Amino acid sequence: MSLPYRAEVVVVGAGLAGLSAATRLAAAGRDVHLVDAAQHPGGRLSTSRVDGFLVDRGFQVFNTGYPRAADLDLPALDLGWFWTGAVVRVDGRAHRVVDPRQHPATVVDTLRAPLGGPVRAAALAAFSARAGYAPVSRLLAARERSADEALRAAGVGERALEVFLRPFLAGVLLEDRLETSSRYLDLVWRSFVRGRVGLPAGGMQAIGEQLAGRLPADRVHLGVRVTGVEGASVRTDGGTTTADVVVVATDPDTAAVLLPGVEASAPRQVTTHLHVLPESPWSAPLIVLGQPRGQLVNSAVVSDAQPAYSPDGRALVASSTLAPTREPDVREEVARLHGVAATDLEHLTTVTVTGAQPAATPPLQHRRPVDLGGGLFVCGDHRDTPSIQGAMASGARTARAVLRHLGAPLPTTTAPTTADPGAG
Ligand SMILES: Cc1cc2nc3c(=O)[nH]c(=O)nc-3n(C[C@H](O)[C@H](O)[C@H](O)COP(=O)(O)OP(=O)(O)OC[C@H]3O[C@@H](n4cnc5c(N)ncnc54)[C@H](O)[C@@H]3O)c2cc1C
Repeated sequence: MSLPYRAEVVVVGAGLAGLSAATRLAAAGRDVHLVDAAQHPGGRLSTSRVDGFLVDRGFQVFNTGYPRAADLDLPALDLGWFWTGAVVRVDGRAHRVVDPRQHPATVVDTLRAPLGGPVRAAALAAFSARAGYAPVSRLLAARERSADEALRAAGVGERALEVFLRPFLAGVLLEDRLETSSRYLDLVWRSFVRGRVGLPAGGMQAIGEQLAGRLPADRVHLGVRVTGVEGASVRTDGGTTTADVVVVATDPDTAAVLLPGVEASAPRQVTTHLHVLPESPWSAPLIVLGQPRGQLVNSAVVSDAQPAYSPDGRALVASSTLAPTREPDVREEVARLHGVAATDLEHLTTVTVTGAQPAATPPLQHRRPVDLGGGLFVCGDHRDTPSIQGAMASGARTARAVLRHLGAPLPTTTAPTTADPGAG
């Protein structure tokens, strides 16, 4: 259905930020039209089927430790879980490093992992306890430096940093220099301490689809590209819509084009290679970390965490590199990490995502302005933090600002809309 000539609110972009804003505004009784150039809601959370396997556009996971996870119907997503932790390979041997609170039986494995000994392990535990349980206000007031400097200052030691923390965090931050702000590191680590990571049975796109399902179908306009935004008017190939409020919730690069004066970019990128194995070589759903000087940051049998990703019980393996790579150049490394023969790996597909995430280097600006004046608003992960949490928090924050602009009372009975004290 095409956009009307007049609307109360138009939200441009049906990623998690736009969906979070639109669903809140609709729940508050506002007439909201949501428009997206893509044919599916969810933006960067995108899933397709390849030979019957569910393939997310780049390996990513949902973390229930995000405060905004409260906005979702998690049981309906039917999440399959990774264990919190990872497998590290040192001198050819695989060692499990697992959060002992979740799997107490693995504590001996974790203590035996060559990460620098009990003093270093205690330092990492202390770092985790602070990130997980200190008030967010204290974390955000702490001295800011790079994540690398913060971890060294915490006393985790060179070995744990290189073998475990650097590859683990590189898979999350999509950069391996650990130049990201220590404040964002604290928020990210907090979500791992407080939550679990998993994959929806329908793929990551199911998260956006769930939110989109809360809007009337005739208010969601997919496959419609916005070519210009002037004041509170939105131009598409199908015509121009004038609205009381326009919310630009696109990816950062498009926001910077549509809204001169808004500085936003998403320099992080990732390439994910998908392989199929006859069966999983592992007994537990754990991400396997890349090794120092290797190309891979991590590799995971995603169907161990979420069996619905495979149509027939074969194992689906997702292996990611930060620099663009060709499958033949990483195949041996994938095989080594999983302890299988390279000939057992059947290449399914490879996905390179540019513009995957904004950078969160110091100084962390995790509450950038969203009200541009004159009924024009902007939201997205580039306004908060480069994550699912950041996108959703940004959408929630923008909805509150829009309701203030429209003079409406804040909703009292819908999804939480109070200032989010959590990560980004
Ligand atoms: C490979 C990868 C791995 C990631 N891993 C994680 C992870 O493990 N955990 C985590 O928390 N986060 C992860 N992220 C980051 C997370 O996915 C994003 O931060 C978040 O989804 C951004 O949501 P958004 O709504 O801000 O933007 P987007 O999802 O980019 O949504 C913007 C929407 O705007 C639409 N649009 C753009 N231009 C136009 C136009 N001209 N007209 C109409 N519509 C337009 C787009 O089609 C899109 O749907 C990852 C991202 C990627 C790509």
